[in-house]
Amino acid sequence: MNHPYLQEEHDIFRMSLRKFLEKEAFPYYEKWETDRMIPRTFWTKMGEQGFLCPDIDEKYGGSEVDWGYSVVINEELERVGSGLVGVGLHNDIVVPYITAFGTAEQKKRWLPSCTTGKTITAIAMTEPGTGSDLANIKTTAKLEGDHYVVNGQKTFITNGIHADLVIVACKTDTSIRPKHKGVSLLVIERDHPGFSRGRKLDKVGLHCQDTAELIFEDCKVPKENLLGEEGKGFLYMMDKLQQERLVVAIAAQAASEEMLEMTIEYVKSREAFGRTISQFQNTQFKIAEMATEVEMGRAFLDRLIVEHMGGKNVVTKVSMAKWKLTETARNIATQCMQLHGGYGYMEEYKIARRYRDIPVASIYAGTNEIMKTIIAKNLGL
Ligand SMILES: Cc1cc2nc3c(=O)[nH]c(=O)nc-3n(C[C@H](O)[C@H](O)[C@H](O)COP(=O)(O)OP(=O)(O)OC[C@H]3O[C@@H](n4cnc5c(N)ncnc54)[C@H](O)[C@@H]3O)c2cc1C
Repeated sequence: MNHPYLQEEHDIFRMSLRKFLEKEAFPYYEKWETDRMIPRTFWTKMGEQGFLCPDIDEKYGGSEVDWGYSVVINEELERVGSGLVGVGLHNDIVVPYITAFGTAEQKKRWLPSCTTGKTITAIAMTEPGTGSDLANIKTTAKLEGDHYVVNGQKTFITNGIHADLVIVACKTDTSIRPKHKGVSLLVIERDHPGFSRGRKLDKVGLHCQDTAELIFEDCKVPKENLLGEEGKGFLYMMDKLQQERLVVAIAAQAASEEMLEMTIEYVKSREAFGRTISQFQNTQFKIAEMATEVEMGRAFLDRLIVEHMGGKNVVTKVSMAKWKLTETARNIATQCMQLHGGYGYMEEYKIARRYRDIPVASIYAGTNEIMKTIIAKNLGL
């Protein structure tokens, strides 16, 4: 498939990543699903091959390449399985906060080990009582001398168990109005006293993806770990959510393409009533409808990626892509499972896993309802 933002070098990169994943991920993926965890060694192998944070400065261990390489990585990881989404979160969601808002000293301290996979990152915004309504978080960070003292709890945190470095949204001012002006971002490292993990959460799907609760009890964080300025955390999150939601849209599109391909293959080989099920008009219409949705999704997504890479503010369109492409993927999963008949419900068929994994894409990175509120607001409603 030709994408306007990809050149020959990206294709070469894709081939080498695919080869790597065929050796290091595909054969182990089922085991990781059973273990409910991806081993840290997979991260360090990704790092050794230059597949972690390729877009960051060479002086910090990156390759200083364009974001097209990140698109390739997200697509290829999704083709293995949605459970690898934590790698994309590290590369394209968490580390970019440090590159964008970190001081030179912070970058020097944290970025090199993010590119090798020695440091795994996470971002902790959501709390047990607050997800969509981020300005209402309750985790506090009180400055006492040269430390912030953090108290609170976070939940549903991707990479939560493995994470060595977590960007935590907290309130440094609880009295200021509007409330979002009291939100700041602190970088909390694994060994800070008072930081512990809660439960590793048991999910409907994404079984190998590590999702956890994080607990902060009088957690002492040096004030040099503040990211950017106090009170600007909410603005930083809004700024970075464009790329986060684009990454979710890219994964949803890749999942749709994958499900369609596996289903076309299946209906051409399965027989009923003396012919392949691909010969029934209902099957053909369903496949034709899905193929149309996939093509249209790809065209919209590719245009958006170009605009995002060009530095444009495409928040409204990214919100459209996020809700539409994740909902399309969910519909495609349901229809593809139906076309697989009883086998589609069996774990040994990949469509079963896709069916379990995809619905959460409509929930995380901002729910699809929140996407629609953003679109409506930006349309002047
Ligand atoms: C697998 C997984 C991984 C995740 N990873 C992370 C992570 O790494 N870091 C992190 O911080 N968070 C993470 N999350 C949390 C995720 O971002 C939140 O679950 C999500 O933002 C929704 O918040 P909530 O669950 O509190 O739902 P709520 O905010 O309680 O929403 C419940 C329902 O109400 C609807 N709703 C809420 N407000 C409105 C409104 N204004 N208008 C219309 N409808 C509304 C929602 O759309 C939803 O349908 C993850 C979640 C999951 C499931």
